[in-house]
Amino acid sequence: MERVAADTLSLSDPYTVPTKYWHRLADGRIQCDVCPRACKLREGQRGLCFVRGRVEDQVVLASHGRSSGFCIDPIEKKPLNHFLPGSSVLSFGTAGCNLACRFCQNWDISKSREIDTLTSAASPEMLASTAERLGCRSIAFTYNDPVIFMEYAMDVADACRERGIKAVAVSAGYMNPDARTEFYQHMDAANIDLKAFTDSFYQKITFSKLPVVLETLEFLRDTDVWFEITTLLIPGHNDSDAEIAEECAWLADHLGLDVPLHFTAFHPDFKMRDVPHTPPATLSRAAALAREHGLRYVYTGNVHDPAGQTTICPGCERPVVMRDWYVINGYGLTDDGRCAHCATSVPGRFDGPVGSWGSRRVPVRLGL
Ligand code: SF4
Repeated sequence: MERVAADTLSLSDPYTVPTKYWHRLADGRIQCDVCPRACKLREGQRGLCFVRGRVEDQVVLASHGRSSGFCIDPIEKKPLNHFLPGSSVLSFGTAGCNLACRFCQNWDISKSREIDTLTSAASPEMLASTAERLGCRSIAFTYNDPVIFMEYAMDVADACRERGIKAVAVSAGYMNPDARTEFYQHMDAANIDLKAFTDSFYQKITFSKLPVVLETLEFLRDTDVWFEITTLLIPGHNDSDAEIAEECAWLADHLGLDVPLHFTAFHPDFKMRDVPHTPPATLSRAAALAREHGLRYVYTGNVHDPAGQTTICPGCERPVVMRDWYVINGYGLTDDGRCAHCATSVPGRFDGPVGSWGSRRVPVRLGL
């Protein structure tokens, strides 16, 4: 098939597809309606995420069927601790992002222009058959935010569902309501980054808005999508007791006490290399605050902290899932997710015995 230069938008490019969330403005520009960036485009222009742009008088997605690479990971790495524990997940991403986080931990992908990174052709059918062949129980849209390539992610999710493989979105939750409703009809689980709990952090550090993310969390609460939340604690920026307490109070009030919350450690990256690593004590302090607010499933991440990564039964208070990094080394749940001691249900999606993927991270080449 003919390929045009990757930085030139064209519907003759086999990886470029029409989209439907946009509308025409009075001044002749077209506004993309997928996310609150509301990029207003003239012919040939791309949006902030770079993978969407205007061509032939419509907004297109220019990365349908191309990826920046694949890996098999433990599902706990997404992180999802209550979703098919111990199973492997085929992870992949594309290029670009609709946020502009100064601390981005995947900036080589998220800030790249597609010509640099989108090297692997990956049709939905290829991805689904690869996940099945490799024994993955789910596929994850990760590394960069699937919001911006929603049409591709939904097609992949549908191909996976036909084979009994679940779809997982790892997202910042920065999405408009109509697009969000359609997108999550195709997803089985999500991990949403709640990057902080102040508007000023969201505006200055991520160039986005906190209320939109909170709306996404409330939206997910009312769906069948299993979701967990991650907050990356950045020293001096979002790690005060007051801010953590405010976040936990909101989660308890609006989402209930059963939503799993992961506090993870920052490492200096991208435009925030002058900020130190998060001390493990900060994560422990945050987790203690969350538990004081009644949250039942609070975890620490990116540090070695077996106690902080253990799931406690809410009924008998025995440890029921013990983890060491991404390895499950103690498991006391039944196949349907009840405590083996007292039969109390642990919230999540459990389906059969715990998996044994362990901590391996295996790069994958499609078709091999
Ligand atoms: S999805 Fe991309 S093009 Fe659309 S509004 Fe968001 S950043 Fe802009």
